[in-house]
Amino acid sequence: MTEQAHPEWDASYTAGTPAPWDIGRPQPTFVRLAEEGRLTGRLLDAGCGTGENALFAASRGADVTGIDVAPTAIARARAKASERGLTVRFEVADALDLGRLGLAVDTVIDSGVFHVFGDDDRARYVASLAAVLRPAGACYLMCFSDRQPGTWGPRRVRADELLAAFSDGWAVESITADTFDIHPMDGTTQVQAWLAVIRRN
Ligand code: SAH
Repeated sequence: MTEQAHPEWDASYTAGTPAPWDIGRPQPTFVRLAEEGRLTGRLLDAGCGTGENALFAASRGADVTGIDVAPTAIARARAKASERGLTVRFEVADALDLGRLGLAVDTVIDSGVFHVFGDDDRARYVASLAAVLRPAGACYLMCFSDRQPGTWGPRRVRADELLAAFSDGWAVESITADTFDIHPMDGTTQVQAWLAVIRRN
């Protein structure tokens, strides 16, 4: 994976204003999941951005790897880990080709990544997750929801699309209406999301 491969994602971290999702703290949903003891064991944060969710899981005892295609995001994530005295492996890597990492994890978290992919890459992503998540391991995936009105932001995902994407080799345990916190935009501080809990068969 080279920096040139995804310059648009890196650019979202080098622009003057923070990316809407890069809120400088973990998403409340992932804080809750960690407090519930669900983010345990060897954990991969796929598309970790600047690492807040990964770092929070590590602070609660998970053995965490975070990957992202944006080198600037990974550099910031590494700097935060060192400032906070936390150990997380942060690597520049492609979430569509996780098998190359040679990892086997118990838990995957996806905060706002599934929804960035088009149809073809969506199927590749699901296969890529299957290559690193051990059987019976859980994936906690939060994506933009079709319940979010308007057209701003990433592609909306419907619950039936989540079911279809994970229909083969996975058990979708739950799909729950949830919210992402974002940087305030026109007075909006939250957007509608789905939280899917998906277990690998
Ligand atoms: N999980 C982070 C970032 C969400 S934004 C958070 O909650 O803050 C989506 C992220 O996916 C961006 O950081 C982007 O760089 C990353 N991304 C997009 N395509 C990717 C790919 N193919 N492989 C890995 N990361 C990718």
